[in-house]
Formats: sequence, C-alpha cells, structure tokens
Amino acid sequence: MVELRGDDARKVRLVLRKRDGDEIEVIDSSGGAFVGALILAAHNVRARLTEAKGPVAPAALEIVLAQAVPKGAKMDFVVEKATELGIARLIPLLTERAAATYARAGKTERWRRLARSAAEQCGRRDIPLIDEPLDWKNFCDTLASFDCTLVLWELAERSALRETLPALLSGVRRIAVAIGPEGGFSHAEIEYATAAGAKTVSLGRRILRTETAGLVACSILRYASGEL
Ligand code: SAH
Repeated sequence: MVELRGDDARKVRLVLRKRDGDEIEVIDSSGGAFVGALILAAHNVRARLTEAKGPVAPAALEIVLAQAVPKGAKMDFVVEKATELGIARLIPLLTERAAATYARAGKTERWRRLARSAAEQCGRRDIPLIDEPLDWKNFCDTLASFDCTLVLWELAERSALRETLPALLSGVRRIAVAIGPEGGFSHAEIEYATAAGAKTVSLGRRILRTETAGLVACSILRYASGEL
C-alpha cells in the first residue's frame, strides 16, 4: 500500500478524476513501476499495489542535451519538449553569452518538477536527470564521459546530416549535444570544445532559435537511432 501526497494526490482527484477502485500506475523515484487499485478516502489517496512492472528498456541511444540557458521562461519549454523526445539528461549550460541572463535561484528545482510532470504526461517512467547549471569549460572537461559530443554551431562546415550522421553515430551509445544561447557560442568556446574532442555540426543555412535547435537535434538523433 502506498499513499499519494501533495500534487500527486491532487492530480488523481482533480485532473485525472479517478474514482475509488480505479486502476493506477505508480512510479517510484528510481523508475520502478507498479500497477494498483486506488483507495480514495476523504483525507487521503492510497493505492494497493498488485503488480510490479519490469524495468525500463534502455534507449538505443542515450541523449544528453547540453543547453545554454536561454532568456525568460524558454528553458521550461526546452525541458518539457526534450523530455517528450526522450533525452536521458539535461545539462543547463552557462556560456559566455548566456551566463548573464541566469540569475535566479531555484530554477533547477523548477526544471526538475517540469521534467517529472512531462515524463508522467507522456508515459515515460525514467524521468530525465537535470543537472545544476555548469559552465562551458567544466562541461568540456567531462567530454570523455560521452562516446561523442556534437556542438551545434551555425558556422560549422555544412554537410548533409542525412549522409554524415550514420558514420558519426557508429558505435555511439551515449551522445552529448550542445546548443548555444541566443547570442551563440564565441569562437574561443568553439576552440575549447573542439580541442576537448567535440565535433561541430551545422543544421543548415537558416539560424534557428536556441530553443528550436536543441529540439531539432534531439528529434534527428531519435530518428537516426531508429527509435521514432
Ligand atoms: N547568435 C547567432 C545564432 C545563435 S542561435 C547568430 O545570430 O548568428 C542559438 C544556437 O542555436 C546556436 O548557438 C547553435 O548552437 C544553434 N543553432 C541555431 N541555428 C543553427 C544552425 N543553422 N546550425 C547549427 N547550430 C545552430
């Protein structure tokens, strides 16, 4: 038996409008899933768990989105959509031209809450990890933990991804894709990343907004890995 509290309990009653005895899927913080029957009482919401579901199958390609923190509430959009697109982890980046716009505390917690509700909404059990914001150099110093890192750069040599991606992804299980802020990456940042082993990639001659670029990259990678 488990008790659902706070937002979860509210959602069961007011959003999903569940009734006593209805079936519910419950996910624990480690991604374990259970099926159970709801017991709705006046002051609490509980579920009697009847069945444990198997573990989540690992994705063919684990995508880590390293997104420079954009202005305003755009990161909320990125968190939600990237969760739907199945990323494993989001690293908010503080780059030369992004750091100034990131000031408020408590944002990471907000993004984690959004990732959780987006995962629930789209039927994902493995909630993406959201790191604390990291500056560009610190991020570049971790590139060895990925099989491949792509830095999206509008000035990169243009080549059709349809042709180049299969070779780029061959043997790759864990990929990081980095997106710059509204003002783009500086040349120094690009040099630092390529020296650390990243590859720059162009998405063609049109400049996409930062929040569009990451989602396009995630969609392309999902497609290329055969998971769409
Ligand atoms: N300030 C730059 C564009 C920044 S767009 C300018 O006006 O020229 C924001 C980010 O989206 C970039 O840093 C890059 O990571 C990504 N991006 C946008 N369009 C892109 C393209 N055509 N190719 C590769 N990356 C792109």
